[in-house]
Amino acid sequence: MTKEEVLKKYFGYDSFRPLQAEIIETIIAQKDCMVLMPTGGGKSICFQVPAMVMPGITLVISPLIALMQDQVQALKSNGIPAAFLNSTLSTIEQRTIEEDCKNGSLKLLYISPEKLFSNNYLGFIKTLNVNQIAIDESHCVSTWGHDFRPEYIQLKALKDTFPNVPMVALTATADRVTRKDILNQLGIPEALIFISSFDRPNLNLRVLPGRNRLKVIHEFIAKRTNQSGIIYCLSRKNTEDVAEGLRKLGIRAMHYHAGLDAQTRAEVQDAYIKDEIQVIVATIAFGMGIDKSNVRFVIHYSLPSNVESFYQEIGRAGRDGMKSDTLLFYSFGDIITRKEMIQKSELPDEMKEVQLAKLERMKQYAESEICRRRVLMSYFNEETNNDCGNCDVCQNPPQRFDATIFAQKALSAIARAEQKAAMGMLIDILRGSQNRSIYEKGFQNLKTFGVGKELKYEEWAEYITQMLNSGIVDIAYDEHHYLKLNPVSWQVLKNERKVELVRFEPYDVKKARLDEDVPRERTKKDVIKDALFEKLRILRKKIAEEQNIPPF
Ligand code: ADP
Ligand code: MG
Repeated sequence: MTKEEVLKKYFGYDSFRPLQAEIIETIIAQKDCMVLMPTGGGKSICFQVPAMVMPGITLVISPLIALMQDQVQALKSNGIPAAFLNSTLSTIEQRTIEEDCKNGSLKLLYISPEKLFSNNYLGFIKTLNVNQIAIDESHCVSTWGHDFRPEYIQLKALKDTFPNVPMVALTATADRVTRKDILNQLGIPEALIFISSFDRPNLNLRVLPGRNRLKVIHEFIAKRTNQSGIIYCLSRKNTEDVAEGLRKLGIRAMHYHAGLDAQTRAEVQDAYIKDEIQVIVATIAFGMGIDKSNVRFVIHYSLPSNVESFYQEIGRAGRDGMKSDTLLFYSFGDIITRKEMIQKSELPDEMKEVQLAKLERMKQYAESEICRRRVLMSYFNEETNNDCGNCDVCQNPPQRFDATIFAQKALSAIARAEQKAAMGMLIDILRGSQNRSIYEKGFQNLKTFGVGKELKYEEWAEYITQMLNSGIVDIAYDEHHYLKLNPVSWQVLKNERKVELVRFEPYDVKKARLDEDVPRERTKKDVIKDALFEKLRILRKKIAEEQNIPPF
C-alpha cells in the first residue's frame, strides 16, 4: 500500500499535513530524522504510516504508560495491530504479545525504556524484523529538555544494536541546544531535522499582574460562560483551593492532579471532555494525551518553570484553530517561589543551573516589552518579522527608540570577543570595566573595549535581553551561556536592518510586590524574608551604581 492509501484506509484522512509526507518518505528511504511539531501537530502519523507501509515491526519508545495505552487503543480501533509492553502486564499477557511479535502479526510495538533494558530484553527485540525505531517525546533524553528522564539515556544502545534501521526522534518542544543534544544522545547526529512552524496565530497571549487572581479569573470566565478552559496551578493544594473558590462563585470547576486515584481522574477527564465541567484546575499532570479540540482558554495561575512547558500548556487551547485566549499571572513572588523550588530540589547542581537559566527566560517573557509572540518564536529559533498585533504588549505598546547603534556596539563586541563572552562579561567589555576576569581573558585589548560607556550596567542588561528576546542575538546554554551571532545579527551589523528597543526603566519591584496577593503556601516569615532580601538588593544596587561597579 502507498502512504496515501494507508492514510485514507486506516486513519480516514484525505491529505497529509505540511511536512508529514516528506517525513514519511525519509523514513521509508531508511534515513534517520527528527520531527519537531507543536502538540497536536500530528507527529504520531509520521511513524505510524511508515509502520504500515514497510514490512516488519516498528518499535515505539514512549515515556508514559497512559500515553502508550491511549495510542495503542486508538490504533487498534482503526484496525492496526499494535500492542504495548510495560511493567503493568502479567507474564501471560507478555508472552502472548511476544508470540505476536515473532509471527509477524503485530505492526507496532510500544515499549518503555525500563522494559527495553530490563533482563536483556533488547536481546529478544534483536531477533525481530524491526523496520523503524520511533522515539516519542524524545526531549526526555536531554538534560537540557524540560522533562529529563534518566531511563532515556540508555537509548543510545538502540542505534548501536540496529545501525541500519531508520530512527525517528519526535518532540514538541526543543530549542536549538536541546535539539542538538537529543540527536547526540541518540547517536544520530546526522539526522535530517523537520521543523513545522510553532506559530499559533489563533492564540492570544496576555500577561497580568499577579494580584486578585481569583477575582480576575472570575470576571474573565463570567464573559465566557459556555467556553471550556484549563487553569494551571503550581501545587495540588493550589488546584483544590482555586477550584473550590470558583465553585463558590458558581462556576463548574473541578481540580485534577496526580494525587487523585485513577478512577477519579478518569471521571473528571470524561466529564470535562463531555463539557459537563467547564473548567479544569490542574497541575501539569493534566493534558498529556488529552484530545479536546474546543478548549477556548488556558490560564496560568502562577508562573510555569520554563518556556517549553508554558508553550506546551497554552498549546492545549484552540486546537481546532479557532481564536482562543491565554492568560499568565505574574508577580515577583512567583519567581522567588520557583527559584526556591529549584534550589531545594534534588537535582545535581549542573541541572539546577539549567533550570535557573530556563526560568530566567520565562521571566523575560513575562516582563517583555516587545510582542509576546515574537519572544516565544525567538525562543524556538523561529524568525517572525512582524508583531502579532494581538497580545497585550502590541495592544498597549511601550515607547520605542532607534537603538541600532547600541545593538551594533553589542554585536561587534560579541564578534570581537570571538563569541566567547556571556552577558555579564560582554557588558564589562562594553563599559570598559577594569576587573580581573577581563584581564584574565585579555579582553581589555579588544577594539570594542569601552565603546559602550554611555550606558549603565542595568541598561545594557535590559537592551541585550530585549535583543535576545527579539531574535537579534542567540545564547548558547551549552557553552557557558556565551552570546552568539545569528543571521539577523549580521544584517544589523551590515546596516541592513534597524533595531528598535524599548527605553530602559527600572522594573518597579516594590510596587509590584505591595499589591500582589501572596501565594497561599507562603508564610509570614517568607514574606518578611523576601522584604529584607529586596532591601538588600536595592542597597547593593545603589552601592554598585555609586562606585560604578557591576551589581554584586
Ligand atoms: P502530536 O503527537 O503531534 O501531539 P497527534 O499525533 O496526537 O499529535 O495528532 C493530533 C491530532 O491530529 C490527532 O487527532 C490526529 O488524528 C490528527 N491528525 C494528524 N494528522 C492528520 C492529517 N493529515 N489530517 C487530519 N488530521 C490529522
Ligand atoms: Mg504525540
